[in-house]
Amino acid sequence: MTPFKTSTVALLAALIPGVALAHPGDHRFADLMHLIREPDHLAMIGIAVAAVVYGVVKLRARR
Ligand SMILES: [Zn+2]
Repeated sequence: MTPFKTSTVALLAALIPGVALAHPGDHRFADLMHLIREPDHLAMIGIAVAAVVYGVVKLRARR
């Protein structure tokens, strides 16, 4: 894998639990609307997107 792909996969792997576990509680029956409505999840998604964008910008700037 290229460094870009490796870092992207690592970021996604690190972020999925963060998005899913943004707050305590039972999420076995939580659907996508819950993830969109809850500010806790939105904050985590926002951080995740910002981290991915930051990583892409950093990697592109190196070339
Ligand atoms: Zn939740």
